[in-house]
Amino acid sequence: MAAQIISGTDISKTMRAELAPRIAAVTQALTRPPGLAAVLVGNNPASEVYVRNKATQTKEAGMASFEHRLPADVSQDDLLKLIGTLNADPAVHGILVQLPLPKSLDTETVINAIDPAKDVDGLHPNNAGRLAGGLAALSPCTPLGCIILTKSVHSSLEGMNAVVIGRSNLVGRPLLQLLLNENATVTIAHSRSRDLPQLCARADLVYAAVGRPEMVRGDWIKPGATVIDVGINRLPAGDGKTRLVGDVAFQEALNVAGAITPVPGGVGPMTIAVLLGQTADAAGAPAGEMVRLATGQSVG
Ligand code: NAP
Repeated sequence: MAAQIISGTDISKTMRAELAPRIAAVTQALTRPPGLAAVLVGNNPASEVYVRNKATQTKEAGMASFEHRLPADVSQDDLLKLIGTLNADPAVHGILVQLPLPKSLDTETVINAIDPAKDVDGLHPNNAGRLAGGLAALSPCTPLGCIILTKSVHSSLEGMNAVVIGRSNLVGRPLLQLLLNENATVTIAHSRSRDLPQLCARADLVYAAVGRPEMVRGDWIKPGATVIDVGINRLPAGDGKTRLVGDVAFQEALNVAGAITPVPGGVGPMTIAVLLGQTADAAGAPAGEMVRLATGQSVG
């Protein structure tokens, strides 16, 4: 039997609808809407699309959107000055600096300059450390979206075997922490891991966050497992066109998995929905509210 397809498009739509009353309540309490500032340096076409989509959805959600576009040759000092201004601005509750930054800038210094309370991308070391310690934190949005998708199929992840392929700070590592907080048993794999098919064969939950088109094959998957595909890879489709594929060979996995996310329409739409939720958190609720609402777990 073909796997259940987990629609991130539908789930993120429901999340945005459920967010509306929270945004209205925060707006009334603050007498201004939650505000999200996006900083885009240079003109990477993919980043421009992300920032534009984020701005549109932020406004649609009833929040204020502030866009700051800086030239690729902006100095580190000028970028840090802008972040300082946003940190101090009471109309701005969430700050995201679109990555990757041009090579002339030091990403770590820039991320560290963001006020952790406004770090709605969850990348500041304070938030990463709190998440690792099982404390309330703003979490990176994509991995939290992965947990929400998984929990649309399994109300509890307790005791399940999870394999996360990829150990980036953006996806793999925070996903590991979120899964541990859900009491899953987690294996994290990377480019030096041996025998990925064997690691996957034991997994009830497979998360692929690698950036290699269709690397995870159908015969790696344990029958009935839930597969969450984070990968976004653009392949030539002829006529100068391209098509998006994930890190999982979707058609093969469809016949083995119990449930699977498609690419596009799986993890992708969740990222912005979580970002909006975390901005509402940063504006009005204690940090970690989004994690609690999304996953049902209590955060200390
Ligand atoms: P990344 O920083 O490049 O990390 C990739 C990870 O994959 C690394 O940990 C790397 O291992 C591991 N890896 C590379 N080749 C491997 C192999 N042959 N076997 C096993 N592991 C391997 O990428 P990322 O930022 O985490 O993103 C991963 C994918 O998710 C990309 O396709 C990206 O576009 C996509 N993504 C999607 C969203 C979304 O909203 N849907 C958001 C973020 C990212 P090492 O650590 O050993 O090098």
